[in-house]
Amino acid sequence: MTVSAFIGLGANLADPRAQVLRAFDELAHLPQSALVARSSLWRSAPLGYADQPEFVNAVARMESALSADELLDELQKVEAAHGRMRSFANAPRTLDLDLLLYGDEVRSTPRLTLPHPRMHERAFVLKPLVEIAPDAEIPGRGSAAACLDALGDQHCERIA
Ligand code: ADP
Ligand code: MG
Repeated sequence: MTVSAFIGLGANLADPRAQVLRAFDELAHLPQSALVARSSLWRSAPLGYADQPEFVNAVARMESALSADELLDELQKVEAAHGRMRSFANAPRTLDLDLLLYGDEVRSTPRLTLPHPRMHERAFVLKPLVEIAPDAEIPGRGSAAACLDALGDQHCERIA
């Protein structure tokens, strides 16, 4: 049995486009999993700590036989392989991989909250998500498309 999972990718250091493209390939090689869709690359201004380069974001859809915890383990290994240093919240990073949705699972544990607790308020997540999954539902929040419509204008545009 496999579960449909969505991964948010973000990078804003060390050639962010290349980091995200490499990460897509790494996701395609995760154990017991298949990468079934990849969004375009999108650019957005940084949130929170503003004095840092713009972000490149994307969303991947996976079908995985891994549990949510095992999938998060694999995502953290990929982040580590990209030389990610954990410094402070919203700090610049070479690669950030968030588990956005894992089927329709809802949980809140110290290590993993599903759905990702901030995804519904971020255009840089919702735009690429709706691009590849127009009917995506965020448990407890409604459709991703409706969440996107409800957002104010957040700077986020598709990279040609
Ligand atoms: P952020 O993505 O918010 O900038 P981090 O990537 O540094 O922050 O993640 C901090 C912690 O968030 C991780 O150690 C991880 O255990 C936890 N976490 C909780 N829920 C999720 C999720 N859905 N996806 C990824 N990480 C999560
Ligand atoms: Mg993260």
